[in-house]
Amino acid sequence: MARIVQKYGGSSLATVEAIGRMADKIAQTVQNGAEVAVVVSAMGRTTDGLLALAGEVSDAPPPRELDLLLSTGEIVSASLMAMALGRRGIPAVAMTGAQAGLYTDGAFGRAQLIAFDTAHVEAALARGWVPVVAGFQGVSPTGDVTTLGRGGSDTSAVALAAAIAADRCEIYTDVDGVYSADPRRDADACRFSCLTYEEALRLAENGAKVIHPDAVRWAMRSGIPLIIARNDASDPLAEGTLIASADFRWKTPAAQGAAEVRTAAGARK
Ligand code: ADP
Ligand code: ASP
Ligand code: MG
Repeated sequence: MARIVQKYGGSSLATVEAIGRMADKIAQTVQNGAEVAVVVSAMGRTTDGLLALAGEVSDAPPPRELDLLLSTGEIVSASLMAMALGRRGIPAVAMTGAQAGLYTDGAFGRAQLIAFDTAHVEAALARGWVPVVAGFQGVSPTGDVTTLGRGGSDTSAVALAAAIAADRCEIYTDVDGVYSADPRRDADACRFSCLTYEEALRLAENGAKVIHPDAVRWAMRSGIPLIIARNDASDPLAEGTLIASADFRWKTPAAQGAAEVRTAAGARK
């Protein structure tokens, strides 16, 4: 049985209707026989809204309190997603980053992951439940809630995939993969069907916001294949971008063939 981590960004969860559509997608993956763990970001522009709220009550919000505040956005998404899955007959359990065992250093606002204790997530999977983990957050050695920096849910997802030895991590967003430039700003940008970790890291470090550089680093270190696709893709491998090592081969011959063909095709629109 394939073990898959699916991450849904804020752009894919902007409304309760969108949460329902993503829940349908997760339910479909489970019904197709995969073991799925989910990581979610805050709905739409919630994080910006929370930052603005903090700014209204303080000129210099204390970093610890700010992180606690910002972490709530992802907790809302995780809770609603678990409810939406339950309504579809898919048992699910929402977890904060701390409950999921994501341990970080104490650098509020830019915390680095130091360990992932997956006991809680593994227990849910063993029971046949879908763990729905709030991205972007963890807990420090002093028990304080931390956040990983803007866009950090990507990192949560890949780190979780690595920690539970998932077969792949699928990142669902509002564009259909990684482009040579931001497709919203540059009409001539080309979508890459395949990228090596090194190529993806260069793009992420140069501002390709669609994937956080730390997420690519985690994937590279652990060898987890990453697929970035639009949230309505029916075949994310065919329609999105695969990020993997240069010599990566899928375990199944059919998928392996498809990935090789795409590697040969290189970048395409
Ligand atoms: P999510 O909410 O799913 O995390 P983000 O807003 O963080 O989504 O990232 C997706 C956005 O990244 C796209 O809407 C796109 O405008 C932007 N983007 C910037 N550079 C690139 C690129 N090179 N390839 C694809 N998307 C890019
Ligand atoms: N919600 C956080 C942000 O807006 C984290 C994320 O989206 O990955 O930056
Ligand atoms: Mg993002």
